[in-house]
Amino acid sequence: MSAGFDHLALEEIKKRGIRVGYIPDILTDATAELTVALLLATCRRLPESVEEVKNGGWTTWKPFWMCGYGLSDSTVGIIGLGRIGQAVARRLKPFGVKRFLYAGRHLKPEGAAEFEAEFVPLTRLAEESDFVVVTCSLTPDTAGLCNKDFFGKMKKTSVFINTSRGAVVNQEDLYQALVSGQIAAAGLDVTTPEPLPTEHPLLSLKNCVILPHIGSATYATRSTMSVLAVNNLLAGLKGESMPSELHL
Ligand code: NDP
Repeated sequence: MSAGFDHLALEEIKKRGIRVGYIPDILTDATAELTVALLLATCRRLPESVEEVKNGGWTTWKPFWMCGYGLSDSTVGIIGLGRIGQAVARRLKPFGVKRFLYAGRHLKPEGAAEFEAEFVPLTRLAEESDFVVVTCSLTPDTAGLCNKDFFGKMKKTSVFINTSRGAVVNQEDLYQALVSGQIAAAGLDVTTPEPLPTEHPLLSLKNCVILPHIGSATYATRSTMSVLAVNNLLAGLKGESMPSELHL
């Protein structure tokens, strides 16, 4: 019941000839929506602000209290301009984003045209983006991709968002980048491990918003996913072609 298949022992599955059903596409809209929600919550400091209301930190008006970073005139860099990456860009464009950059293995002229997104090396994406959004799949190439080197190239005012898989990020390096002010804030829907232990250092930071992997968690999406998963399973059991089969 997921679009990602990084958690499967693919070599072993191939070797044993096991068939796998998976659920791409239908999670795209819900996950893109959650990515935008997480980005806004992080850059405009919503969880921190809610907490201030509750704990009495909200006193007289102060010009720079609870200020964050907005999307107008910004540069958004997307790592992995696939289905979800494009759906995120489509939703962010009306916020007044000035420029979209993307990094990946391949140029995607068709997917990028709608946003006039520019294909750039990862380093340039880190250096020039005000918002970095990670929506790539987890592969041996992307594991640990966002590390000390990467965060070191980001601007101090930039916001980092990951809704792909936790292992794309080196969490120790992210923690250091957040504590040292190397980057402004981070929003994560995915972590390593999941669930993240409640005493994890990232949870002590005000500039880190962490969600419990709820990208696809709308009632409608999860219902559609359930039906597709069951139909995959029934077709597999009958030896028929699955509505959505992973071809390894
Ligand atoms: P797609 O296959 O459409 O997109 C994956 C993207 O990853 C492609 O654009 C690909 O680009 C990119 N990619 C692969 N290797 C690299 C690399 N080395 N560097 C940069 N980019 C790379 O998948 P989806 O958009 O449907 O989903 C993406 C991921 O999101 C899933 O694999 C899953 O892990 C995660 N996900 C998370 C959810 C959540 O609840 N938070 C819900 C659903 C999915 P290229 O073609 O150039 O290789």
